[in-house]
Amino acid sequence: MSITRITVLSGGMGGARFLQGLLHGIAAGTVPGVSPGAEVTVVANTADDLWMHGLKICPDLDTVMYTLGDGIDLDRGWGRRDETWSVKAELAAYGVEPTWFGLGDRDIATHVVRTQMLDAGYPLSAVTEALCRRWQPGVRLLPMSDDRVETHVAIADEAAPSGRRVVHFQEYWVRLRAEVPAESVIVVGLDASSPAPGVLEAIAEADLVVLPPSNPVVSVGTILGVPGVREALRTTAAPVVGLSPVVGGSHVRGMAHQMLTSIGVEVSAAAVGLHYGDRATTSEGVLDAWLVDERDADQVDRVRGAGLACAAVPLMMSDVDATAAMAAAAVALVTDRGSVDGAR
Ligand code: GDP
Ligand code: CA
Repeated sequence: MSITRITVLSGGMGGARFLQGLLHGIAAGTVPGVSPGAEVTVVANTADDLWMHGLKICPDLDTVMYTLGDGIDLDRGWGRRDETWSVKAELAAYGVEPTWFGLGDRDIATHVVRTQMLDAGYPLSAVTEALCRRWQPGVRLLPMSDDRVETHVAIADEAAPSGRRVVHFQEYWVRLRAEVPAESVIVVGLDASSPAPGVLEAIAEADLVVLPPSNPVVSVGTILGVPGVREALRTTAAPVVGLSPVVGGSHVRGMAHQMLTSIGVEVSAAAVGLHYGDRATTSEGVLDAWLVDERDADQVDRVRGAGLACAAVPLMMSDVDATAAMAAAAVALVTDRGSVDGAR
């Protein structure tokens, strides 16, 4: 089989890094069975999106676009390289809230263009396509939906009459640094949303679908919640393979434990794989195969016991070569291309 169409359901930083490695591997011809000209479609989470200072901000779309378009700040992993912060400082000098969100001057240009186009009536998918004409990310980048969908998080707050308070995911993540337990996650607008044009087709017509090591609750989880997306994954003829964002019992570079805990899923590589579930033997499952880190090799049997193909390989995206090797191992797991180095 020659894979020419790959669809990836992505969040921000984890997804973007993975995509960088995948594209590197495809171009270098090191991903087994994938032709060097293979097309990659990215369905990005938009439930992190927010309106701020009159601007529509799409953190995950922008992280993917800037990362693949070589405009990302590599140290932070989000926002523009060589950024300055004059507008943010001026807004703070006026006492305009909120002040905790990182809004850089160069980045603001993107949000201005986006907001103008949305105001003029273009859907987010068309706006994203227009922004990508500048950045040339080397993938077709689709928002999961053109509809407004926002993740909110309920946290305990003794000062509130109900004893709890609901904040936008960005406030939970950026201002509160996910330090207080998330009692529940409420994705406003999700049930009534529709997939953006091309999303269901990209899944149905793919030769391979990949769930990168993105956040299983607030990135991939929200994409799967867009009506029609889960069913598209369950019915596509393409194999569906995922890579664990949890390594050795914790999220990599992350503070995401709260999110899994809030939906009652144990923070382990196997539990996340089982949460996504096997397509063949469970009624909600979306996966055929699940890749875990070598440190979690002792969980492979548990994953296989749930019906999924599974292997343990290094899953740290330390550089593009390491990440390309992860992509190759993921593909090998569903295409029976023989043994993968390091797999057991
Ligand atoms: P966000 O939207 O910016 O939070 O990014 P994503 O949802 O796409 O990815 C966040 C996830 O990436 C976190 O759950 C991390 O555990 C995971 N992650 C980050 N770096 C790595 C890595 O090197 N290896 C693995 N396996 N997961 C990673
Ligand atoms: Ca995100």
